[in-house]
Formats: sequence, C-alpha cells, structure tokens
Amino acid sequence: MQLTPQLLPDLVQVIADAIENNAEEVTALDQAIGDGDHVFNLQRGIQALKAQSAELSQMDWVAAWQKVGMTLMTTIGGASGSLYGTLFMAMSKAAHERPLTLSSFAEVYGQGVEAVKQRGKADVGEKTMLDVLVPVADSLWQSSAEAVELPVALSKLTDVAVAGMESTRDMVATKGRASFLEERSRGHIDAGAKTAQLMICAIVALLVERLTAPT
Ligand code: ADP
Ligand code: MG
Repeated sequence: MQLTPQLLPDLVQVIADAIENNAEEVTALDQAIGDGDHVFNLQRGIQALKAQSAELSQMDWVAAWQKVGMTLMTTIGGASGSLYGTLFMAMSKAAHERPLTLSSFAEVYGQGVEAVKQRGKADVGEKTMLDVLVPVADSLWQSSAEAVELPVALSKLTDVAVAGMESTRDMVATKGRASFLEERSRGHIDAGAKTAQLMICAIVALLVERLTAPT
C-alpha cells in the first residue's frame, strides 16, 4: 500500500467516528477547564473535510494538506481552528508530491508541529494539544533514525499519544482558556490533548490495519 491522499476519505471517517464516540467525555473535560465547545468546533471542521473527501483523494500531498489546512482554519474556529489550520498548511509547505515514507513523514509532520508551537507561542508542559503532538513528532524522528519498520513505528505512537494526553492531567495550564484558572486547572486532562490523542490513535489503527493486511 502506498501512502497517498487516496487514504484521506477513510482517514477522515475514522477521525469523525473517534470524536463522535468520545464526544461526551471530551465535552465534560472542556467544560471543566474550557468553554465546552471543543468537540463542536472540531466536528464542524471534520464535516467540511468529509464534503471535500472525494476531491482531496485525487490531489497530491502538497495540495491536499494545503486544502485541509485552509478548510480547518476557516471552519473549526476557536484556538484549535487556527492551530490545526497552521499544522496542515505547514505540512503542505514541507511536503513533496510523491507518496510518503516514514522519514519523509517524520520531516513533514515535525515541520507542522514546529509551526503550531510558533503560532500558539506554546510548547510541551503547558497543558495543550502540544503535549500529544510533540512527543508523537519525537517518536517519529526516533523511529526514522533507527530505520524501524513503518507499522512498528506507527504502533509505538499509540502509547506515546496516550502518555502525552495523560501527562496533561497534573499540569497547570499556561496557554489557552484553561490558563485563566491557574492552579485550579490541575487535575483535569486537557480536552485538546484528548482529541489529538483520539485522532492519532484512530489514524494509527487504520494505517496499521492497511499496512499489515494480507494482499
Ligand atoms: P477555544 O479555547 O478558543 O474555545 P477550542 O475549545 O476549540 O478553542 O480548543 C481548545 C484547545 O486548544 C485546548 O484544549 C488546547 O489543547 C488547545 N490550545 C489552546 N491554546 C493553545 C496554544 N496557545 N497552543 C497550543 N494549543 C492550544
Ligand atoms: Mg473551547
């Protein structure tokens, strides 16, 4: 199987399902230390991507990620809209038109996460989606450097994403709405970290299934 944008319709679908199946839990998290709209915001973006799925699947990565980024930027709203928009637009800039490999994806995704850090003026340890996105980038770099097989490299990301999400529970938020609560933000998982973990785990599960399916 080649990693081309033909995967995008199925990827968008598994992401939509992951968010839908966990909507109540995530909304409760966001109500505890945010304003409760995070799932709704993401679902607006996902719906817009679903409507573009067929078109996206015919593009190359440079064009597809640019379109995904623009769409998310203009539909999600909230802090997460500009951050996810930035992620994919930066990935488009770093991408090549050919199918992805582990090392090219590690590079492209790493550039995307760097752009998110800059856009949000944030880094690991501030109780945001970056506590999931950054360790995932680090794990991809490491697997790429060690020339690990792609399905193995992907499978590692599940534990990394869950650990990153869990790590936000004991943090005090210093970025985003939750930062207004200061010490009272401690003890709750960040909603944006939770949805980042859910989306990454859904992507990994689909790709591993496809990569290891008997042909
Ligand atoms: P808003 O906070 O504007 O209502 P959302 O509810 O859609 O937007 O998204 C909130 C999530 O965005 C937070 O849970 C957090 O993970 C993430 N976030 C907020 N600010 C930042 C930032 N500066 N950098 C990275 N992520 C952030
Ligand atoms: Mg919100």
